Amino acid sequence: MTETAPKIDIRQLSKPDLIAAFGEKGEPKFRANQVWEWLWKKGAHSFEQMTNLSKPLREWLDANFVIHFIVEDKVQHSNDGTIKTRFRLHDGHLIESVLIPVPDDRRFTVCVSSQVGCSLTCAFCATGQMKRVRNLDAAEIYDQVLLVNRQCEATFGHPLTNIVYMGMGEPLLAYRPVMESIGHITSPEGLGMSPKRITVSTAGIAKMIKQLADDNAKVNLALSLHAPTDEKRNEIMPINEQNNLEVLMDALTYFYQKTGNRLSYEYIAFNDFNEGHEDALALLRLCERFPVKVNIIEYNPVAGLDFVKAGDDKIDRFARFLSNNGVMTTVRRSRGKDIDAACGQLANRE
Ligand code: SF4
Repeated sequence: MTETAPKIDIRQLSKPDLIAAFGEKGEPKFRANQVWEWLWKKGAHSFEQMTNLSKPLREWLDANFVIHFIVEDKVQHSNDGTIKTRFRLHDGHLIESVLIPVPDDRRFTVCVSSQVGCSLTCAFCATGQMKRVRNLDAAEIYDQVLLVNRQCEATFGHPLTNIVYMGMGEPLLAYRPVMESIGHITSPEGLGMSPKRITVSTAGIAKMIKQLADDNAKVNLALSLHAPTDEKRNEIMPINEQNNLEVLMDALTYFYQKTGNRLSYEYIAFNDFNEGHEDALALLRLCERFPVKVNIIEYNPVAGLDFVKAGDDKIDRFARFLSNNGVMTTVRRSRGKDIDAACGQLANRE
């Protein structure tokens, strides 16, 4: 490797690659293992921090490699405890993560982004107005979890308990980096969290749901359903035209049969659109093929979009109907509305 060669983003290397690079330099394997630990377990963002390495070795690393650590750019605190953090990526793009604390239940969830922008143009979503710029890489996703975990410990004296891939972007269209980030989050050489604490949320890409099953992913899967018929879903989620409900139900059945992992539907209640009795009946039919939990979510208005939040009475009646018919149903009142951190609001303002 010459001094003039462009620096390699060291966290793009697999562990065997890193060991091989150290081998070429005549450094033993355990040195590479030390660097790996600094990078992933300790979250080092400079080689200078790697104090158990000799100075010449740190200088060699610095001359040949770079760590593209994400940088906190802006932190906003909601009056309900939710914290939204905007991060700057090495190429200047901005993404957001949200910490949603429920201290009484000792539940601290981070919602992470997987893409800069999104290509799917869901009609109700702020991110969908942005266009997709690029996928995040595994390290950029991992950094969000690592940094928000530190934020959670500093603010609430408790580490994160749950991770949801529900921020900006469609995780199943950033499949490789998402899977790699999950590998690091769950590895004992990373954050060592249980995959059962991780939920990947998709707008519904049938082929990739099957891929997730074939790859024997241990994570939970949430489908952003939001409408119980193809006709209505096509209206608000263009992705449904190539992945209609029948195709999605087949893919989810396959996922459930292969993995046995938990499935849920996310369902934002829009006034006079998807919260009537017919809708509840249609949704009930979609709950018959596999065990699935329904999360009904309050809509958060997004500037420039026409949707209206359904009233509490309508949401409660809809949820009661599902529960009375044996479907596990929860209603998620919105969090972080005052700082645009609520579902569908990321990237709203800037
Ligand atoms: S809801 Fe999700 S998939 Fe749809 S546009 Fe927004 S970020 Fe993309």
